[in-house]
Amino acid sequence: EARKEGGNLVKRFAPEMDAVNHERWWMSRALFQAVREQQFEVYYQPQVDILQESLVGFEALLRWKTPEKGHISPARFIPLAEENGQIYDISLWMMEQVCQQIALWKRAGKRLRMAINISPVQLHRDEFTQDFVDLFTRYRLSPNDFELELTETSLMDPKGGGQLRELWSQGFDIAIDDFGTGYSNLEYLRKYPFNRLKIDRSFISNICDSGDDFAIVKAILAIAEHMGFKVIAEGIETVDQLARLRSLGCHEAQGYLFSKPAPAANATAMLFNGLKAPA
Ligand code: C2E
Ligand code: MG
Ligand code: MG
Ligand code: MG
Repeated sequence: EARKEGGNLVKRFAPEMDAVNHERWWMSRALFQAVREQQFEVYYQPQVDILQESLVGFEALLRWKTPEKGHISPARFIPLAEENGQIYDISLWMMEQVCQQIALWKRAGKRLRMAINISPVQLHRDEFTQDFVDLFTRYRLSPNDFELELTETSLMDPKGGGQLRELWSQGFDIAIDDFGTGYSNLEYLRKYPFNRLKIDRSFISNICDSGDDFAIVKAILAIAEHMGFKVIAEGIETVDQLARLRSLGCHEAQGYLFSKPAPAANATAMLFNGLKAPA
């Protein structure tokens, strides 16, 4: 009897395991095809000056539309692309799209900050800085056109830190993405050069109801002010959250309240017509 039950147990769990493995297997094959067939698109989400309520920049975010399963979230495919190294080529493609777009906007007389996400896997490749410099030079852009978003995990070993210093000395602005969620060793704030902290959405979502989250955001703003970092808050969805941030003296924000990430054509419209005032 017991053996039979054990057998059933295996049977009951096995299909689930298979589903996970199958999904990974399918996705990594599909990713190879996606690179060849250009199934990716770059979306742009506005970054906003809270006092002026004006657009100061965009964050570029990758979108993947598969023929079989429609859109797949970057939260699902980026980790896999990082594991099998495909993130490097995918990002080069993405950065080229972004360069083309910045060049177009510049030609039309618009200058703005473009934030792009840099994976630890890219940072750990020696040729990354040179590849990137070669790329934007072809579009007559400079490091001033970019802000590079790195996560705290990028800095967990000296190699990532070294690449960060190299990029910083080239003149790129560096932002720490998802600040406060990575690893709780704040020593790196003294150790490496940064321009900006990006307060993670998880602290913003309850900033109106949770005294703890309010205190955390307040403390981050105090550290930033003291150390000379700029700050942007991510994931603002309501006017109440915006008012809270404004009262704390936070200068910049990004979130669905202003706009979801949108295709280049919509971003161009925002750039030329301005943002709709939130509610
Ligand atoms: P992230 O860099 O922290 O990007 C912010 C994420 O929050 C985006 O999700 C954005 O759509 C979402 N978001 C922005 N405002 C709001 C809001 O008000 N409410 C809510 N609920 N969400 C909001 P997305 O585009 O799905 O990207 C997820 C993550 O995938 C990114 O987090 C980033 O870590 C990674 N990622 C996306 N594109 C790239 C890329 O081109 N390269 C790399 N290396 N990573 C990328
Ligand atoms: Mg980001
Ligand atoms: Mg983030
Ligand atoms: Mg993130």
